Amino acid sequence: MNILIIGPPGVGKGTQAKLIKNELGIIHLSTGEILRKEIENKTKIGIKAKLYIDKGEFIPDLTILEIIQRRLAFSDCSKGYILDGFPRTLPQAIGLDKIITELNQNLDIAISLTADEKVLEKRLIERSLKDKRSDDMPAIIKKRQKIYWKRTAPLLKFYKSKGILKQVNGLGKIHQITINIMNLLK
Ligand code: AMP
Repeated sequence: MNILIIGPPGVGKGTQAKLIKNELGIIHLSTGEILRKEIENKTKIGIKAKLYIDKGEFIPDLTILEIIQRRLAFSDCSKGYILDGFPRTLPQAIGLDKIITELNQNLDIAISLTADEKVLEKRLIERSLKDKRSDDMPAIIKKRQKIYWKRTAPLLKFYKSKGILKQVNGLGKIHQITINIMNLLK
């Protein structure tokens, strides 16, 4: 099963994607995590990505699409995957369609995790104290939220028109949210 999970910063995409991955025995692909690893290893992509991430801005679509195109062609993706944090823009979504068609794959479901923005802002500030992410500072958090509504939220319409969008409340007990998602995958 190939899944993607969409939602505003802090809604718990990463947490849920990891739990779903374990439930289904599929691969979890987080572009944010891939980029943070590239930064840690000081690769060419990492050095470039840091400039955008630290400002709370998106990495250019072509760079992200190249990373995903390479990764989805790995044989471990044949058992299924959950995409987390990608696609984030319409060109990325269109690019993904092209990539998966070329690889003879398809997307089964797009899960939209929803939550109140104020609650998420508080969550992200709390996370910043724990994880020390360079993009979890109040001003950057606000910017990331704004960019989400402008550039990523339109994807909900895109996947709704394809008939694969399902919405799940992202607030509540982590375990219950996972159950709610799993029920949609049956
Ligand atoms: P995340 O861990 O998903 O919150 O991603 C952290 C940061 O990495 C984002 O704020 C962006 O700067 C960058 N990033 C991650 N995924 C993408 C993507 N699909 N497109 C553009 N930038 C991305």
